[in-house]
Amino acid sequence: MAKFELMALPYAQDALEPVISSATIGFHYGKHLLTYVNNLNALVEGTPWAEKTLEDIVRDSEGGMRNNAGQILNHEMYFEQFKSPTENNAPTGKIADAITKSFGSFEAFQKEFNQKGATLFGSGWVWLSADKDGKLIITQETNAANPIQKGLTPLLTFDVWEHAYYLDYQNRRADHLAALWNIIDWQVVEKRL
Ligand code: MN
Repeated sequence: MAKFELMALPYAQDALEPVISSATIGFHYGKHLLTYVNNLNALVEGTPWAEKTLEDIVRDSEGGMRNNAGQILNHEMYFEQFKSPTENNAPTGKIADAITKSFGSFEAFQKEFNQKGATLFGSGWVWLSADKDGKLIITQETNAANPIQKGLTPLLTFDVWEHAYYLDYQNRRADHLAALWNIIDWQVVEKRL
């Protein structure tokens, strides 16, 4: 029996348009993420890893097992943090205060996040995380890495693998990253803090 299951999307496949098209969700969620789930289930079958959580596998395993588990964890956080587009979408409350305290302003935070997403060479993820003292920091993680491997608490992530944007934006990664701010569900992000 399969240990890990494909997450359910918390919105309809076309709910994020025009920022992320239904076609991109179809491939990204329906094919790429499903493949990571199927791969991990095959790798853990009959091993002690079948009894572990995704986070345990990401922290403590290696090779293909760690990569597939990392991609599942990363994509679950990614797809869960979105909602339908709204104009002037910005954080409020506790998460807004934490961002202002750590970066000076929401705009300064966005600028650094966009810049680190645009300049990450190859495939990977840009992350906002909290460190053990509650300070927020932005990191670039290559391939399937997740900030929990550094002891950080991940809060928000943009996927910069080409499969995340190529159907809609082709090579214009920066334009894709700029548009993502309109679909962030800041209440989901705040719950991770
Ligand atoms: Mn992806």
